[in-house]
Amino acid sequence: MSMLRSERMLAKYPFIAAARDYLSRRGIALDELGSGRFGRDVERAYERVVEALKMGEDAEIGLYPDEEVEVLSFAIALLFVASIGDGWLARRWALAESLRCGRFLEEEEPEIVAELLRAELGIKVEPSPPGESGLGAYKVWAPHYLTLTSRIDSLEWKLVNRVVRGGWVYVTPKELARIAVEAIQKRILSRYEDARGTPLPDSLTAVAKRIREMLAEKRSFEVEAGQVSEEYWPPCMAKIKKELLAGLSVGHFANFALAAFMLTAGYTQEQVIAMYSQRSDFNEKIARYQTEHIAGQKGSRVKYTPPSCSTMKTHGLCVEEGRLCPGIKNPIQYYRREARRAAQRKKIEGRNDEEEKRDSGGGFLATST
Ligand code: SF4
Repeated sequence: MSMLRSERMLAKYPFIAAARDYLSRRGIALDELGSGRFGRDVERAYERVVEALKMGEDAEIGLYPDEEVEVLSFAIALLFVASIGDGWLARRWALAESLRCGRFLEEEEPEIVAELLRAELGIKVEPSPPGESGLGAYKVWAPHYLTLTSRIDSLEWKLVNRVVRGGWVYVTPKELARIAVEAIQKRILSRYEDARGTPLPDSLTAVAKRIREMLAEKRSFEVEAGQVSEEYWPPCMAKIKKELLAGLSVGHFANFALAAFMLTAGYTQEQVIAMYSQRSDFNEKIARYQTEHIAGQKGSRVKYTPPSCSTMKTHGLCVEEGRLCPGIKNPIQYYRREARRAAQRKKIEGRNDEEEKRDSGGGFLATST
């Protein structure tokens, strides 16, 4: 029998197929969820979503002692998020839930981790044999490793910096959990897409309304973000922002580059924070601290400038190897050049308008006599 079918496992990893089977065997109808019998499950579901909403990646969802409640509350939380239908909330909740699973995975026996990743997430992974354990406790099939780490831009994850043998990449338990978090988040989001728009029974709409109100308060930053203009942005920064808004995981260095670029280009700290408020793992306190740090108001008091194009290339963040930006050495140089050119164009257009008016006899004066 699979090691993943025990109630304890379902409680820890409620996204897995066995948890769905377990719930369908219980045969609970949607309408019943509002009855007092499921009060604890609904309360726990509410806690799961609100903790994720407030804390993002710092959320402590934990493990509720009653395993039945833990499995059902995940499904109800998914219903709440799906009925609200806000992509940002969905990503933030999926992130918090997947990080929770990642923390449990770090402590699991290697055979369980390998089975869960293989059977549930389709990741080819094996515990390393005794003779190879010094290279890493697990080995992941290289094509799967590459797909799952493509969004992580820190250098230690690049294949050239890894031990690779016979098509396998060796990783530590912590690294494997990090990889699994990416895959679990995707899985939860695909469940969200499937359930999106499912109407809630009337008895649960009041709870969903409370979540919606908290969400509106949390996202008030977005008004500011909408006012940011990107007409002169270089392709690399436009791409980072696009990925950020699409809810893709944008690595640490890319985040730093974007913040340093915006601040150097003259955006206010509030505008930078507003931009980051659209990340699913947004934490206002941390975002504010980091922005102030980059702006030189905290820590070393050094005001950071955006990384050069060659550093951007090293981190895989340059677009089309720079072919779209001939002669540019730094993204801020692109921004200033485009802004200057636009100002010149406007000046020339203004001059042409003036000349046209003069040629047609003076506009206002001509008509007022
Ligand atoms: S050449 Fe520089 S400015 Fe242009 S996309 Fe690459 S990193 Fe960005």
